[in-house]
Amino acid sequence: MHTFLTQRIAAIKHTITELEARYQRVPHSVNLLAVSKTKPATTIATAYQAGLRHFGENYVQEARQKQQLLGAFDITWHFIGPIQANKTKTIAQHFSWVHSVDSVKIAQRLSQQRPSNLAPLNICLQVNISAEASKSGIALDALQLTCEHIASLPNLHLRGVMAIPAPETDFNLQCYPYQRLYQATQALDTFTLDSFSFGMSGDLAAAIKEGATWVRIGTALFGAR
Ligand SMILES: *Cc1c(COP(=O)(O)O)cnc(C)c1O
Repeated sequence: MHTFLTQRIAAIKHTITELEARYQRVPHSVNLLAVSKTKPATTIATAYQAGLRHFGENYVQEARQKQQLLGAFDITWHFIGPIQANKTKTIAQHFSWVHSVDSVKIAQRLSQQRPSNLAPLNICLQVNISAEASKSGIALDALQLTCEHIASLPNLHLRGVMAIPAPETDFNLQCYPYQRLYQATQALDTFTLDSFSFGMSGDLAAAIKEGATWVRIGTALFGAR
């Protein structure tokens, strides 16, 4: 099991390097965020020993249990799941990044609740790029205004955007929503966004082609959930 996971980590890293070259991305500009939801702390420890440092979790309570078990490890924790208002305090206290901010209200709470002894919380704004009513995320045409609000909050550092497009198998259809979102960010005045949280196990290549700086990989590293 350990060697299997170690091999998968090496294979994904190799794939990322190849895709950076294929799409003329700057070497090492795509970072691997290991999505460890539903996987035990022992799996995270193995992945850590194989060199991974960034882990993404979707559920606050589950993440806290693992964080407590892994307190001795130098892990950077990213929250990537839906955010309920009553969970913002725990998230503000125990994560370095939040990829799934989808309202000014949630951002305000995270800023208020971020402990003053910690660095500003890194934020990606989740954008509902496929315009599906059921998915969370802000509408693309609200991006400018929402960025303005979030950038004014003292204990947050607005870093970029995140998207979870509707699943597609066709490569061009996978690229299109990321391309639209990336282009929309280039039209924003006054913000320097350096983080694009694009791509999961099934659309890694499209995401890297379209500018991903974080790829959030679960299944391809840890197997099916
Ligand atoms: C679960 C999850 C992932 C990982 O998806 P895989 O297809 O398993 O790689 C990425 N991003 C978010 C927001 C997730 O919830």
